[in-house]
Amino acid sequence: MPISVDLKGQVAIVTGSTSGIGQAMARALAGQGSDVVINGLGDPAKIEAERAQMAAEFGVQVLYHGADMTKPDEIADMVAFAKARLGRLDLLLNNAGVQFVSPIEEFPIDKWNQIIAINLSSAFHSIRAAVPIMKAQGRGRIVNLASAHALVASPFKAAYVAAKHGVLGLTRTVALEVATDGVTCNAICPGYVKTPLVEAQIADQAKARGITPEQVLKDVILAAQPTKKLVEYDEIAGLLVYLASNAGASVNGAALSIDGGWTAA
Ligand code: NAD
Repeated sequence: MPISVDLKGQVAIVTGSTSGIGQAMARALAGQGSDVVINGLGDPAKIEAERAQMAAEFGVQVLYHGADMTKPDEIADMVAFAKARLGRLDLLLNNAGVQFVSPIEEFPIDKWNQIIAINLSSAFHSIRAAVPIMKAQGRGRIVNLASAHALVASPFKAAYVAAKHGVLGLTRTVALEVATDGVTCNAICPGYVKTPLVEAQIADQAKARGITPEQVLKDVILAAQPTKKLVEYDEIAGLLVYLASNAGASVNGAALSIDGGWTAA
C-alpha cells in the first residue's frame, strides 16, 4: 500500500510557531493539508499577516491563539480552543522554548524558573489538556520538540539541559499511559538548527567563553555535530510529518535524534 502523508482533515497545535522551527513546522503541517493553531509571542500585525498568508498558501484553516506558555490556564484554553474551533485535535507539537547561557553559580533564578516553565512545564499542561480529546478520538500524536540536550549535556546550560532531559522523561511516561488508546508520544531531538535561538546562543557563548562568534560556530557548535552542518528545517519536518501520518503509529516513547551523529559519540 502506498504510504500516505496526507494530513487533510487533521488538526494540529504548534506552540511557539511565530518564529524558527515552530513556524517552519506549522507551515510543513499546513502544506500536508492539516488545519493548524499557531501560537507564540510577537508583533500582532506580523502574526496576523503570517496566519493569513499560511491559510491562503495552503488552503487550510490557520488560527492563532496567544497563550503564554508560562500560564497553565492559557495553555489549557489553547487546547480547548483548537477542539472547539476546528472540531478535533490530531497533533500537539510542544515546541515553544527559550535558552539562557551562564555558569551555574551565576545562573539567575528567574531565568531558571522561566526556562523550566516554558521548556518543560508547558508540555505537561498542554499534554494534560490534549490527552482526553485524543483518547476520545481513539487517535492522536504528541510530539515534543526536545533537543540533543535531552540526551547529553553542555556546560553553561543548566536550566535548558535539565528541562530537555525532563521533557524526555515526560515523553516516555505519557507514551506508556496512552499506548493502548491510538495515541503516541515522542520526542524529536535535533542538534543545532540554524534559527534565531542558535544565533543568539553564538553571541552568548562568545561572551561566556571569551572567544569570537566565528570561533563559537566552528569550534563549539559545529564541533559537537560530526556532519559539520547545521540541521535544516525540512529535515525535522520530514520526521514530524511521518510521525503525524498513519505510518508513524507504532513509534511511541522514542527519542528521535536529528543531530548529524552528535549523540552517537
Ligand atoms: P525561536 O526563538 O526561533 O522560537 C521560539 C518560539 O517560542 C517563538 O515562537 C516564541 O514566540 C515562542 N515562545 C517563547 N516564549 C514563549 C511564551 N512564554 N509563550 C508562548 N510562546 C513563547 O526558537 P527555535 O530555535 O525555533 O526553537 C524552537 C524549539 O526547538 C525550542 O524548544 C528549542 O529548545 C528547540 N531546539 C532548537 C534548536 C536550535 O538549534 N535552534 C536545537 C534543538 C532544539
